[in-house]
Amino acid sequence: MLLAVLLFPCDVNSASSQQLLDDLRHLSSAVFSGRKTNTSGAELSALYLKDRFELLGYSSELQTFNYQSSLFSRSTGNNVIATLTSKNSTSSTVVITAHYDHLGKKGTQFYPGANDNASGVSALLYLAKRLKINTPTFNIIFVATDAEENGLHGSKYFVSQLPTGTVLFNINLDMLAVSARSKTLYAFTLPKLKKTIESQLATISSNDLRVRVSSSSKHMNRLLRVDKIDWRKASDHYSFAKAGIPYVYFGMGDDPHHHKKTDTFANIDQDLYVKSVIYIERFIRQFDFSQL
Ligand SMILES: [Zn+2]
Repeated sequence: MLLAVLLFPCDVNSASSQQLLDDLRHLSSAVFSGRKTNTSGAELSALYLKDRFELLGYSSELQTFNYQSSLFSRSTGNNVIATLTSKNSTSSTVVITAHYDHLGKKGTQFYPGANDNASGVSALLYLAKRLKINTPTFNIIFVATDAEENGLHGSKYFVSQLPTGTVLFNINLDMLAVSARSKTLYAFTLPKLKKTIESQLATISSNDLRVRVSSSSKHMNRLLRVDKIDWRKASDHYSFAKAGIPYVYFGMGDDPHHHKKTDTFANIDQDLYVKSVIYIERFIRQFDFSQL
């Protein structure tokens, strides 16, 4: 698979990398008013993502779901889905997820959610574009999930609709563009997969990006110098884990602007972000199911 990387190089200044940043800038702009589930901002975001998948040559669908959003009310959300079918048709399927919803508006101001999680969902589009070239030997379903912020509802619904046993792995992307202290990309996975993921990551050239694997919340919290985050449940990978589907979650989890109006495009670390996404592409290209 090293050959594939050499044949299809992508550097930090390529057109794909520029598009990655453009998507992030656009999704975190006032156009989408903070992308809160069940608002016109989220609806516009879903349509934008669907269009972008279609521009990349995919057929894309909105998966609409309804959920209990508070004691007395229900809300509607939309996951955006696109599928890349491998030519060497195997039954193995990886689902790559990133939530696009965020916190919406407070008064006249909006929460841009540039790092959380325009960064993940722009990475999803980048991967959808890049992995069409020399497609891996497994199928890939790209899912931009909705209603993550208020309880992982989009991913929960998506998993509930999967025929049993069809998905073998989830790669979840959430907050890839700010790492205030450590400048590190974290790969969080199940304890039983830690060694496997570590050995698969060890073979990837990282463009001097620092990458660490963790499988315990205690360990992650110590590394990030934060308290009491349950990383197993912190994002959409938890919906897959509950259904017995193994996962790796990529994120940086170290953002002083988290859930603040200052989570803006201006405050992301562009260089670190692009390097991380290129690295994740390399990981997916060499991903080896047989070691799971
Ligand atoms: Zn998030």
